[in-house]
Parts: sequence; C-alpha cells; structure tokens
Amino acid sequence: MTRKFTVRVDLDLCVGNAMCRAEAPDVFIATDDGQSVVAEGGSETKSLEEFLQIAHDCPVSAIYVEDNDTGERLDDGDR
Ligand code: SF4
Repeated sequence: MTRKFTVRVDLDLCVGNAMCRAEAPDVFIATDDGQSVVAEGGSETKSLEEFLQIAHDCPVSAIYVEDNDTGERLDDGDR
C-alpha cells in the first residue's frame, strides 16, 4: 500500500531562502513575506523520496512531511 503523506511548511521556522521553490517551483509558492507555502494539491505531485530530499535540503528543517494516518513526521528534521 502506498503511504499517504502531507507536506507543509512551518512558517515559524521558514527563513525564506527560496531553496525549496528552486527545487520544486510547482509545489512551493512564495507568500507576500517571501516565505514558502505548499500549493494546493502540491503534496501529491512528487514521490515521498523526492519530498524527503527537499525537506532534508531546507536549512532550517521547516518542511514537514507527515504520514496522513499516524501524523508521524517522516523527514529527518528536528522537532
Ligand atoms: S527551503 Fe526552507 S527556509 Fe527556505 S523557503 Fe523553503 S521552507 Fe523556507
């Protein structure tokens, strides 16, 4: 069974360096403040492995990849 997950950005952590938007411009969009949010339906556009890599690349671990069933954080960022 394919694992269902949701990607989101913690705006308390995001420093707006736009790295995620460069990696996945179809998924992450800029807010007026220059931070990033996940576009509607964006979590369904890439594989879990791809999102885990993007989350890993965020310098402040602001990108969360969460299991839809358990709420478990799947990426390797600090809580
Ligand atoms: S890579 Fe991380 S810090 Fe940079 S804009 Fe994206 S979520 Fe924010």
